[in-house]
Amino acid sequence: MKYEKPFTNALQGGDKAFREMKNFSKTAPIFETSVFSFDSLEDVDAYLNGDPDMYMYSRLDNPNNRQLETRLAALESAESAVVSSSGMAAVFAAVMGLMKAGGAVSSGTRIVTSRYLYGGTRSLFFQELVPLGFTIVEVDSESPDAVLEALNESPRDCLNILYWETVSNPGMKAADIRKLTEAAHASKPGKGEDGCGLEILVDNTFLSPALFRPLEHGADAVLHSTTKYLNGHSDATGGAVLSREEVVEHARKAVINFGSQLSPFESWLTLRGLQTLPMRMERHSSNALDIAARLKELPEVYNVCYPGLDSLRDSFPLGAGGMLSFDLESSAAAGRFIRGLNMISFSPSLAGLQTTVSYPASTSHRNQSDEMLRSQGISRSTIRLSVGLEDPDDIFQDIQQALKGGEDV
Ligand SMILES: *Cc1c(COP(=O)(O)O)cnc(C)c1O
Repeated sequence: MKYEKPFTNALQGGDKAFREMKNFSKTAPIFETSVFSFDSLEDVDAYLNGDPDMYMYSRLDNPNNRQLETRLAALESAESAVVSSSGMAAVFAAVMGLMKAGGAVSSGTRIVTSRYLYGGTRSLFFQELVPLGFTIVEVDSESPDAVLEALNESPRDCLNILYWETVSNPGMKAADIRKLTEAAHASKPGKGEDGCGLEILVDNTFLSPALFRPLEHGADAVLHSTTKYLNGHSDATGGAVLSREEVVEHARKAVINFGSQLSPFESWLTLRGLQTLPMRMERHSSNALDIAARLKELPEVYNVCYPGLDSLRDSFPLGAGGMLSFDLESSAAAGRFIRGLNMISFSPSLAGLQTTVSYPASTSHRNQSDEMLRSQGISRSTIRLSVGLEDPDDIFQDIQQALKGGEDV
């Protein structure tokens, strides 16, 4: 079942799970089992012929995962979804799914992407996919013209996967996904010239379907680290791939064959968190907009990056999420700031209920030269803030006192 609005989909979207029960437990039980039992060989046949109420082995499928998948598909306006053990597993499964659905092409697969990419995804591309024969093309600019140009340079008979993040991590560059997909479709691979193919894959982790749904703007597939906003409570790692049925079935095979399935308990926690997603995203967005506007006024703070402030504001009418970044005067000032925080914790992840900070130069982007950091839109004094649901006055007060050198000054 799919409804029009995220608020309803988050709570009621997807299939009614566990239909074989005569009277239904209000919250889903956790099917913490590796295997299911059958009464007869006929039952195994029924399962293998696709009976929607049957299960065999939790690496293949589990009721908790299936319930989460149908709920996520309703929220993201997708035909189908598959969940995985992490966001990284979802990136890999999505690429495999699109590659297989796009048809094996003789010149291989080319991933055209931004250089402002989540560090883990960049590692997966360069450390794992390049040795497997993928070509990675990093586009220097966010402009649709640059993307068009990179796609037009595709060799013959090549499948192109345009890979983009709705908002990049940690540089906080917001992409105009509709303009990018229009440019991509106008390119040589988009028109299918020279036997080239095109699939557009968007990492929507930073916005979530409560605020933006890339499939409604021309993307072919979407992925999430559900570890972040979809679960939202910092207590479960997971990922999801959403697309047309064919792509998802290929991605599901990758999850099964590589053994990167989500565990039933993580699935249950993620579904529990997901129900309040639209409410949380409204509050994350209004708090972050408020904090970003106040940070801009502070003399110690430079380069406040929040997609709700700049020219792309109109692309995200429902809010621009809870993530923002800013620079301080120096790396020493960043160190003093982090030490000085009382309420806000230094936790190098994001999207939890509580406000956290991270410092990319010594965590996700450790051991990179100044030049490499700059090329990814950050510096040694960049602080990334994941704005939580507290009262914005208290969040800002903690930031302000930490900027002044901590409590004792
Ligand atoms: C965290 C993150 C990932 C990876 O997800 P994991 O759940 O940590 O594997 C991918 N993309 C983005 C944008 C992320 O923030």
